Amino acid sequence: MTTEQPGPTKPHRVVIVGAGFGGLEATFRLAGAPVQITLVDRRNHHLFQPLLYQVATASLATSEIAWPIRYLLRDRPEVTTLFATVTGVDAQGKRVLLDDGDALSYDTLVLATGVRHAYFGHDEWEPFAPGLKTLEDATTLRRRILVAFERAERENDPQRRAALLTFVIVGAGPTGVELAGTIAESRVGTGGHRMQRGPRCLRRQTARHHDHHLGRRRARLACRRMA
Ligand SMILES: Cc1cc2nc3c(=O)[nH]c(=O)nc-3n(C[C@H](O)[C@H](O)[C@H](O)COP(=O)(O)OP(=O)(O)OC[C@H]3O[C@@H](n4cnc5c(N)ncnc54)[C@H](O)[C@@H]3O)c2cc1C
Repeated sequence: MTTEQPGPTKPHRVVIVGAGFGGLEATFRLAGAPVQITLVDRRNHHLFQPLLYQVATASLATSEIAWPIRYLLRDRPEVTTLFATVTGVDAQGKRVLLDDGDALSYDTLVLATGVRHAYFGHDEWEPFAPGLKTLEDATTLRRRILVAFERAERENDPQRRAALLTFVIVGAGPTGVELAGTIAESRVGTGGHRMQRGPRCLRRQTARHHDHHLGRRRARLACRRMA
């Protein structure tokens, strides 16, 4: 009589697309589970988006808010990290399609690819008002702000200098408020002139909307920084 030996069971394959907060959290939570994880991202770094505004205002370097994904998962041998762009999902075949023509098979798929900002049907606004979601967005903003300061420094016409030092921020959420506060705090060497202060509408918005987001103390501080 022969007894049938069960063959080695295949590990459950989990493919996670995106190594932002969502994808990383899923990876961390699966620690110890009997699964094989492949984490795919089109960038080689995880980005701490809440501090993007500090890069945009030259308070932090890009390397201070972005860390290599491989480094973050260096203690997880069951996790394979892939630097690739996902171009599609073959849901029937349970495959994730990559930009180099390759495909990854999965048993479970986690799509954590984040979001982009929108211009509500007005994409023509983008060249004038870039968003703030990636390192490239932050360095673009930083360049614009610093160039405006430099030009203002060399400008003798007070009206044109005032125009160069006037910044409009659309969106008075925590990021908009922090950005306005940091810009307002910046001093420029324009003959001893201090940069124009944060827009009044933001101060009103801060008082109205940000108590519950930031907490009363932080909202008051943000208002004061713009005052
Ligand atoms: C300026 C700013 C300030 C913020 N401040 C706060 C805050 O104070 N508190 C708070 O709780 N939240 C804050 N948030 C929100 C928070 O950062 C986001 O909710 C969070 O980062 C979303 O995480 P996610 O994993 O869904 O997406 P993301 O962090 O955007 O990650 C998505 C990942 O998917 C990758 N990806 C996308 N498409 C593909 C593809 N096709 N192939 C391969 N990889 C792909 C991207 O490269 C990225 O790494 C802020 C956001 C911003 C932009």
